[in-house]
Amino acid sequence: MKVGIMGGTFDPIHFGHLAMAESAREIFELDEVLFIPSARPPHKVEKKVTPEVHRLMMTYLATQSNKFFQVSPMEFLRDGLSYTLDTVEELHKKFGAATELFFIIGADSMADLYKWHKAQELLQKVHFIAAARPGVKVDFEKLENFFGAEGMKHIHQIISPKLEISSTELRERVKAGRSIKYFVPEVVEEYIVKEQLYLNG
Ligand code: ATP
Ligand code: MG
Repeated sequence: MKVGIMGGTFDPIHFGHLAMAESAREIFELDEVLFIPSARPPHKVEKKVTPEVHRLMMTYLATQSNKFFQVSPMEFLRDGLSYTLDTVEELHKKFGAATELFFIIGADSMADLYKWHKAQELLQKVHFIAAARPGVKVDFEKLENFFGAEGMKHIHQIISPKLEISSTELRERVKAGRSIKYFVPEVVEEYIVKEQLYLNG
């Protein structure tokens, strides 16, 4: 089995996330893609994040129409910061040694990969699939210096639609009373309106 992991704050989930997950699934022939909202992202401890229940609900709503997409609340069920290494180890236990894991990330996250918690150990246990992101250039030479040629075999780049969408911009749009139509699935837009999310930033 080949399982994709799509991690993120998903505050809110948008078509950028969904398009890259679907491209990765298709190109790498993944059996499924597991969307895992992060509880306490180590790089966002200072920032205010929307309550878990809303981010989880939006992730379910956004992925329900794709039979290959699943959602896991596993990072919400753990204490402490959400380290990808812990998640990957938990998934290896769940799926067994015969399953390969592919962590799907955007270029901005890829550029920072060497800063992740126990990055070298992590790269031995999981493949990374990097999708381009408008306005972001990844310094692959820097990554190679850090991870070595062997490590780079676990880093793959894909061509996927480049969508200039970020959750930050969507939160700002809602706060300013602007439209987020065609940036997020309609069900997510409806949920944001109904639950009055992002009205205060
Ligand atoms: P925020 O602005 O709050 O940081 P975001 O849009 O970057 O939100 P995240 O939840 O932080 O979304 O991102 C989860 C993952 O998806 C990260 O690996 C990020 O690089 C990737 N990602 C998000 N949006 C895009 C996009 N438009 N294109 C490519 N990758 C993306
Ligand atoms: Mg981000």
